[in-house]
Amino acid sequence: MGKESALKLGQRGPDARQEVPMRTPKQLYAHERMIYQPELLTCPHCGDLLVTCNYLAWDKTVQMLDRVLSVASRPGRCRHATCVGSRLRLLSAAGQRIAPAGSTYGYDVVVRIGWWRQESRATYREIYAALASQVRISESHVGYLYQQVYVPLLACHERQHRDRLAQIATQQGGLIVALDGLAPQGGEPHMWFIRELASGVTWRSGWLCQQDQPTFEAFLEPLQHLAWPILAVLSDKHTGLVPAVATVLPHSRYQCCQAPDLRNLADPLAEADAACKGALRKTVREQVGALLRQEPRTAPGHPGVLTVTGLLPSPLAQPTAPACHTPPPRDTLAGPASNADEVITQLVRPTRYLLTLKGRPPFRLAGIETDERLQNVTRCSLDLLAQRYEPRLAQWSRGLQAALSPFAKTAEELQQGAAWLRDIAYILKPAATPPLSAAHVAGPLRGYLDTVRRWPKVTPTLDAFGRHLDTVSRSYWPGLFHCYDVPGLPRTNNALASHVRDTGRRLLRTTGQKGLTQRTRPRQGAWELLPRPPTEAQVLDAVCQTSPEELTQERQRFAAHRQRFRLQSRSLRQIQAPFHQLRQRWPALQATGTG
Ligand SMILES: [Zn+2]
Repeated sequence: MGKESALKLGQRGPDARQEVPMRTPKQLYAHERMIYQPELLTCPHCGDLLVTCNYLAWDKTVQMLDRVLSVASRPGRCRHATCVGSRLRLLSAAGQRIAPAGSTYGYDVVVRIGWWRQESRATYREIYAALASQVRISESHVGYLYQQVYVPLLACHERQHRDRLAQIATQQGGLIVALDGLAPQGGEPHMWFIRELASGVTWRSGWLCQQDQPTFEAFLEPLQHLAWPILAVLSDKHTGLVPAVATVLPHSRYQCCQAPDLRNLADPLAEADAACKGALRKTVREQVGALLRQEPRTAPGHPGVLTVTGLLPSPLAQPTAPACHTPPPRDTLAGPASNADEVITQLVRPTRYLLTLKGRPPFRLAGIETDERLQNVTRCSLDLLAQRYEPRLAQWSRGLQAALSPFAKTAEELQQGAAWLRDIAYILKPAATPPLSAAHVAGPLRGYLDTVRRWPKVTPTLDAFGRHLDTVSRSYWPGLFHCYDVPGLPRTNNALASHVRDTGRRLLRTTGQKGLTQRTRPRQGAWELLPRPPTEAQVLDAVCQTSPEELTQERQRFAAHRQRFRLQSRSLRQIQAPFHQLRQRWPALQATGTG
């Protein structure tokens, strides 16, 4: 049934109110007028035919992306006063899909704003500029629609996934969830998320003011009442969380993410490596600093000036005809201008760069890399010297050798430690498909750790590192291997962690300020992290089915949370009223025992 009529304006039916209240002061002229009737023809309780009410449930002007509509909905009810259905006012579902309750902007406008904000990372100003030709709106209202309508709509959408989850649970024999937390700045509560792994649906996303077992138990508790079993929980190892999972979900397996395990394994090695890199850099500077700091030769008459562009660029050394496309010879040493200075410059430049290398543990260790590559530079200088002696090159080469030689033993230890770590990572990474069983990984890992402990002729440093590998592995052991037995359970929580990082980057782009991003996280981060369907059309299709009651509740939840930040504003005007309220409430409070 749906639309009763699609009248052109000027043919208004008798039901139309003459004045439509609007946010914008100027009159908007609707292109069409529509009155929606309930799709349901019979009472859901007694099955008798519905009658339509003699009033309109809502009557509003809605701005859509391509037109302005004047819409209204006529409710239906059961005619029997004794039937429960007589108290219901049934509305058209199609009518409710035009615009969110209480909004004079269509779902398409709201979704366009949200999509641009989240997908194109546009600022409110950019969205406003792009929409202004289609829709009458202000920049601040763009922000309002994003925060107060779009983001709560996404949260309501998360609740529409039950069928999908039921299907996954049937296929897998249960569900697998991942937990991740995000430490905030300056003592704000931590944000935590529980997501279903196969679908990416967010079970829970919110703030915890403590990180202990009772808090985690309360956070996990609603998962107990699901219709489906939780097969496994994936998370970083966190004090309090492991026993909480065991208490709340006793039948699920706890897999700890292997990435932090490897980082913890690498800790002492990374520390030794960083120390080695620092010391190495210092000694190299001491030995060959004068050569490192020496300015490379510049064009005669332009002392100290390297390459310059702009309206007045630096002159070309060898002007070439514009038609000539042959690239300049790569090896400038072979050119006619080549001399010893240039050769030395070419060795000095990469050395200067090598001294700035940064590590990324567990596998990229800057000290090892710097040492290896400086050895390379030294070998190259020695080769050149063997062909032709040059005093400065000889000084350079001697200096480097003198700088590197005290680190030979440390470098060897670091190399050995790094090799152990790579071997452990290799054992943990399943090469076989279908994956090995837990026993096929745990056995070799235990064996390898024992081999490390019995390593011949280890130095005290290596011995300590070997013991560290053993201790840390033992502490992670109970949670390391479920991923090889439970299909669909990954070894690491990287997907969730990178989603959190991406959201942070998006917030930074759309707010444009680091400080504002940090303030946005505690205020609405749990909503910002909610997933969304992959295309704008799918988002629109999904969110326009939200029930008005559900949206109202979610907006209340959002507003109640934001209430906590009422006194955290830079604007003196905005906080004056709440401070005034505090002053009034205080004397009226009842005296307490300690007071
Ligand atoms: Zn009825």
